[in-house]
Amino acid sequence: MSFESFGIEDLPIRDELRGKSPYGAPQLDVPVRLNTNENPYPLPEPLVERIAERVREAARALNRYPDRDAVELRTRLAEYLTRTGGHPVGAGNVWAANGSNEVIQQLLQTFGGPGRSAIGFEPSYSMHALIARGTGTRWITGPRDEDFTIDLPAAEKAIAEHRPDVVFVTTPNNPTGGAVPSETVLALYEAAQAAKPSMVIVDEAYVEFSHKGSLLPLLEGRPNLVISRTMSKAFGAAGLRLGYFAAHPAVVDAVQLVRLPYHLSSITQATALAALEHTDTLLGYVEQLKSERDRLVAELRAAGYEVTEPDANFVQFGRFADSHAAWRKILDRGVLVRDNGVPGWLRVTAGTPAENDAFLDAIRELKKEQE
Ligand code: PMP
Repeated sequence: MSFESFGIEDLPIRDELRGKSPYGAPQLDVPVRLNTNENPYPLPEPLVERIAERVREAARALNRYPDRDAVELRTRLAEYLTRTGGHPVGAGNVWAANGSNEVIQQLLQTFGGPGRSAIGFEPSYSMHALIARGTGTRWITGPRDEDFTIDLPAAEKAIAEHRPDVVFVTTPNNPTGGAVPSETVLALYEAAQAAKPSMVIVDEAYVEFSHKGSLLPLLEGRPNLVISRTMSKAFGAAGLRLGYFAAHPAVVDAVQLVRLPYHLSSITQATALAALEHTDTLLGYVEQLKSERDRLVAELRAAGYEVTEPDANFVQFGRFADSHAAWRKILDRGVLVRDNGVPGWLRVTAGTPAENDAFLDAIRELKKEQE
């Protein structure tokens, strides 16, 4: 084989990576991008100024490694969780990394890995399965009901049968949008403890947008429960790459065994600390997005579409005989939504009122075309 035609399959890569595709939401340059559940509002100018100030200060000490334990940041994150999550936590309960994707990777490196398995109830956030693969953790696809809620008896049965080491629960779920009732999470936790015991990771990336509250209070008395969060959505800081989790301090101690030293740069820590100083302003945008999300639901229904009950900053809508063809037609009208591969359904992120209007115009036209 020639050097020129040499490709990935010619490399001695791990067998489980062969023929697989990377995570790849399209990054297309179109006028209205409502496909990756980002917050459409740029950070407010006073916060941009504060970030610049904090980063300038951090830059003066860039010759040194950052605070490896990110103590100040974890303290501020714990204060935020305590204030908004209905349960007191301290810095010792909180761990942070580069996006909740890295948080999940560290958790799977610690609690999953070769010879171990993780279960998620699909459709759900596709990175859980991809990170499992990347960490050598066997992935098990758990069931969901027709209406995309978790079918509890079937889920309990799957846990008892497969005895996974890690159980993922995404609430609100991506891409279907609904929050999982706390009784369901409690029952899954019990099932997971009876089967193994195993770790239960509750991914609350979108919880600030939910009609229901955080499941943080469930941490009380449950050392194998982890609640994962991110600043990518509610804090409008997807570019920052800052995720975190809350759990028993023993879990924080455990992930120290796999985290890379100095994984969170001083620039990241400084920027996140500045954003946390502006929490109230940012949560004000969350309120606007929640009402825009509710408007999208009402207008989609009025236009004759079905919508699955949404608790996040996005809405799953359908049904389409060919969802990919519908995705393309919406894109032809300058609006990028997401085809998550759920047959019959697409997902739209709540944008600014103008972006949402553009989306609604596009899908109303599409409906007319289909009639
Ligand atoms: N969890 C869920 C459910 C998500 O949808 C996302 C982002 N799409 C993430 C985690 C990852 O977010 P980040 O790495 O930006 O924190």
